[in-house]
Formats: sequence, C-alpha cells, structure tokens
Amino acid sequence: MLNLVLFGPPGAGKGTQAEFLTVSYQLIHLSTGDLLRSEISGQTRLGLEAKSFMDKGELVPDAVVIGMIKLKLEAHSEARGFIFDGFPRTVEQAQALDEMLNAGGMPISGMLSLEVERQELIKRLLGRGMVSGRADDQDQAVIENRINVYVEKTAPLIKYYEAQGKHFGINGMGTIPEIAERLKKTVDSLTCQC
Ligand code: ADP
Repeated sequence: MLNLVLFGPPGAGKGTQAEFLTVSYQLIHLSTGDLLRSEISGQTRLGLEAKSFMDKGELVPDAVVIGMIKLKLEAHSEARGFIFDGFPRTVEQAQALDEMLNAGGMPISGMLSLEVERQELIKRLLGRGMVSGRADDQDQAVIENRINVYVEKTAPLIKYYEAQGKHFGINGMGTIPEIAERLKKTVDSLTCQC
C-alpha cells in the first residue's frame, strides 16, 4: 500500500497536486477541508460546528476530523492507498492516524512537504478567494491567522515525521507541472524496489 501525507501551509498547492497524485498512483484522496466543506453545504450538525472554526481560520477540534478520517478509512478498506491532504494538522491527529494505519498494517509511506514562501501563499490564497468564493480565502486577517496556526500547531509535524525518517521536503515554488514532477520523483523513490 502507498499511503502519502501531502503536507504544507494553506495555499501550498496540496489540493492541486493531490489530484495529480491520485490519478497517477490510483489512490483515494482524503481532504479534510473538502470533507468539512461538504458537511457545511449539507447543513449537518458537524458542518455547523466546523464552520464557526473555519470562518476564523482556526482548526476544527481534533476529535471531529479524526472521526471523519476513521469513517473514510473503513469505507475504503479495499484501497491501494490514500493521499491525506490537510490531515494531520496537529501532533494528536498524526498519532491517531498512525494508530489507525498501523492497526491495519498499512503505515504512512512518506510525508511530502510542499515548501512555499509566506508572501507567495498570501498572493495565491487571495487569488483563489476571488474565483472560488471561499470565505476563508477572502479576508487577509483570516489568511494570516491560518498561516500563523500552521506555523504554531501544524509545522511541528515536520519533526514528527522526520523522527520516523518519513519527511521529504519538496520545493513548492514554480509551475504546477514542475512541482508535480518533483513530487513524482520522490514518490517513485519510495516505491522503487531497487
Ligand atoms: P487550506 O489548507 O488552504 O487552509 P483546507 O481546505 O485544507 O484549506 O482547510 C480549510 C479549513 O478547514 C482550515 O482552516 C481548518 O479550519 C479546517 N480543517 C481542515 N482540515 C483540518 C484538520 N485536519 N484539523 C482541523 N481543522 C481542519
């Protein structure tokens, strides 16, 4: 099985590159951001709870996102592998994910960490906000908060995966195909039997 964590700050290009990796390696794409937005549009209780955090650029509570991922893993027990996009975002989430995957004998293969400068992130997110209409991409203060939350709560995961020898830094500046090629090289080196 190939289980990849696609990692990086908001605006790093995780969603875009996840699409490419999903097709190339026939994996199941699990984006907690997409799952939460679909709960919001379905006006579920979970969605209503999550929205109040997302609108401020804060993290949704760990138990909520861990529960969502658990259900999806169970629903796709036949998968060739998964791409986790936007998850884990805290050490608690990473530990829960390791427990769930290790219990099934299918550990994380690698964490691909897209590295992009702060100014570029803000530019990309404001640009996306104009076309997507995503509320959290339209307000510069919310964007800044999301990046700060990333630095404080999510970036420590780099050390978490480094300690397992699973962290791979990828230059996330450049064109979409250039970045896709860098990711592909790294994934191929993970799957290479040589
Ligand atoms: P981005 O990476 O551009 O911020 P996402 O779609 O991944 O976009 O996430 C949007 C929002 O959804 C986050 O700001 C956060 O509020 C919430 N969210 C997504 N994934 C998680 C997670 N794993 N843990 C907590 N909150 C999450």
